[in-house]
Amino acid sequence: MIESTLVENNGADGLDTRRSILGMDREGLAEAVRAIGEPSESVAMRARQLFHWLYHRGARDFGLMSSISSRLRDELTKHYRIEAGKVIDIQRSTDGTRKWLVRFGPGIHVETVHIPENDRGAICVSSQVGCTLNCRFCHTGTQRLVRNLEPGEIIAQLFHARDQLGEWPTPRDGASRLISNVVMMGMGEPLYNYENVSRALKLIMDGEGIAISRRRITLSTAGVVPMIERCGAELGVNLAISLHAVRNDIRDELVPINRKYPISDLLAACRRYPSSSNARRITFEYVMLKEINDSLSDARELVRLIAGIPAKVNLIPFNPWPGSSYECSSDESIRSFAKVVNEAGYASPVRVPRGRDIMAACGQLKSDSQVLRANSR
Ligand code: SAH
Repeated sequence: MIESTLVENNGADGLDTRRSILGMDREGLAEAVRAIGEPSESVAMRARQLFHWLYHRGARDFGLMSSISSRLRDELTKHYRIEAGKVIDIQRSTDGTRKWLVRFGPGIHVETVHIPENDRGAICVSSQVGCTLNCRFCHTGTQRLVRNLEPGEIIAQLFHARDQLGEWPTPRDGASRLISNVVMMGMGEPLYNYENVSRALKLIMDGEGIAISRRRITLSTAGVVPMIERCGAELGVNLAISLHAVRNDIRDELVPINRKYPISDLLAACRRYPSSSNARRITFEYVMLKEINDSLSDARELVRLIAGIPAKVNLIPFNPWPGSSYECSSDESIRSFAKVVNEAGYASPVRVPRGRDIMAACGQLKSDSQVLRANSR
């Protein structure tokens, strides 16, 4: 049975004018304490302490930061807040997947998903409220873009997941974790909000912060070609590409950003991606749509296109949503497609849909319909 809990709807409404410090890096925190009169000789130490309390301990209240002097705690409370938004709806799938609807202000809602495995778990994080890409088979694409998320709002999704799963303080590196991996595969296009996503990921990767290594972080893009290079050079996280078609005419339809950055440009950017190696392959995501992109000749063209790129191909059975006009390929065509890719030397796992019953699977997220649903209960 699906469990669902409606949480009181009392998130931040912007009445509080204090600036939020969640999402600031060490320099930002140093600037923040300097601005409220901390003597310059202790600014760096205070920034370090704040960093620890915020990102390692997950503190949401300056009053609890016991290693910081009470005078500074009072000043911090007077001038700043730690704004993480509120979880306003929780859903739990029969397969253990959980989905949280997080509210950051009026009309500003996103969905965050936790996908547990035996000894680890991934958190699927949103980067934007809504999306501009309009991929034809994606539910999020039917929600217009409201705005980009701030770094603190991206981090906050992990905070809520850790709150809910009881995983504070940050577990030791190597310890088994409920949240061991982060995938930037929620709502939005992370490379259209690169600056904020990059700031947030740096805090997530920081060993004294959220401490999830870049090897356990995957950023998925529909193909914002000019930003792929920066992402590789500055963040070095794993890259996933939502390819979904091997011919430009079909990809133009399915993933309209292809009209701007066609397949050949996209694959050239993948070939240049710095951290791609056999140990750190690029993941090509390929949604299986019946009679659209699932023929054996599509499979053969796919392996021809990616030849030479250290890659794996994730085959994603299409996840339906209300009003979607596609059908999922048959098991048999998925198997035959996977076989062609596999025999060409690429791992071609078929992704087991997780959380379909709560609309938490790939491409099913859409916060505005979840808000309506939560309010109607
Ligand atoms: N905008 C980024 C991040 C979203 S990741 C990107 O496009 O990569 C979400 C993944 O789920 C993408 O690969 C997307 O193409 C895929 N997806 C979208 N709708 C889907 C659906 N209905 N069924 C299966 N996968 C879907």
